[in-house]
Amino acid sequence: MKLRIHTWRRLAGIVQAVIIIGLPFLRTGGESALRFDIPSLTLHFFGAGIWMEDFFIVLVAVMFVTLLLAFITLMFGRIWCGWACPQTVLIDFTPFADKMKSGGIIFKSGAYALIFFISVIVSANLIWYFVSPYEFIGKLTEGGPGNVTLGFWVVMSGILFLNFAMLRHTFCATVCPYAKLQSVLFDDKTLVISFDPRRKQECMKCMACVRTCPVGIDIREGSNAACISCAQCIDACTNIMERSHKKSLIGYFFGLPGTEGRLLRRSAAITGSASLAFLIFFIYLVLTHVPLDMTILPNYSYPPRITADGGVINSYILSLKNRGRSDAEIDITAAGKEGVIKLTPDSVHLSAGGLKKLPVYVQIDNIPGKETPVSIDISIRSKDSGGDAVVKKANFIIP
Ligand code: SF4
Ligand code: SF4
Repeated sequence: MKLRIHTWRRLAGIVQAVIIIGLPFLRTGGESALRFDIPSLTLHFFGAGIWMEDFFIVLVAVMFVTLLLAFITLMFGRIWCGWACPQTVLIDFTPFADKMKSGGIIFKSGAYALIFFISVIVSANLIWYFVSPYEFIGKLTEGGPGNVTLGFWVVMSGILFLNFAMLRHTFCATVCPYAKLQSVLFDDKTLVISFDPRRKQECMKCMACVRTCPVGIDIREGSNAACISCAQCIDACTNIMERSHKKSLIGYFFGLPGTEGRLLRRSAAITGSASLAFLIFFIYLVLTHVPLDMTILPNYSYPPRITADGGVINSYILSLKNRGRSDAEIDITAAGKEGVIKLTPDSVHLSAGGLKKLPVYVQIDNIPGKETPVSIDISIRSKDSGGDAVVKKANFIIP
């Protein structure tokens, strides 16, 4: 038996639900795979911790997602709305809500209770992207998740309840900003659900496609901006036309039926390439991201001085921060034009999330010439995790 589009959409919805609900429970390196931790202003992203100071990485990710959405919309129209939007998926999984008006009091009460329960779970799931679900559930069993979280949970549950019980598809046509943006991104080769006017004579005028449409469109009259690409009209027409062993009169078409041409056009190539470039840049930034930070200040209590054997010592105050989730042994080195320079102390222990200020003493024995200041590089690198070093420049004064 050939599966209808409706069945494939349901399967896609189940996969999406499993991913969205399961992702906060998935742990990488002891943390949620994807979560923004508000107290530490840290985005946990599959083992990497991205801090507020590094938010240009998030900006790069936002650019990637924005361009990807533009590319997908340009190529595949409202495919997101029909197949992946959580709003559509949840509406698909609560079809009983559409029948509530005509149902009895017991049916209505049961349906409202179920929608409320789903709203509570969905809003909790949203919170898990900010508060670890393990912490959330733990606190729930101990008395409550805290006033702010609880307040957000209650308000969000109420909004979702009103949305799923009353607004439903009206949300897509009236509130959703992405739906409003789409018409700007479409061109004459974008994938759309359309009635094939070349086969107009075959239409039996059964109105099955119109009756099934959740937003009340007659797709035979042409594309409509309110269409949410749910493909229900395709299935409805398939059921009708199958009886006379014909294909559905409604289907997916790149552009209007009969105008199909080259899919890879300049606008799509530019948006797709730009999106890919941002993705590559984002991956590079995440992979090379070092969980250490350092600032260097002169140590005013220890002015630059000349040693008995003619060397010069400068002292600095290093502020070191370990933004990682485990303790780290840090190597500290200094280098200048002449190569590696003597530095004391040359290592320090930093606890996870810890900040330490310490004086270091840099000694150069054979300084060529007498120009001052000399520029030197001070570097820190984790002994255990390796990775790139954090390198900062400092002025070395010759008194
Ligand atoms: S016309 Fe209606 S039924 Fe067909 S895809 Fe659009 S919203 Fe769905
Ligand atoms: S379901 Fe197909 S045959 Fe029936 S009215 Fe719609 S387009 Fe015509």
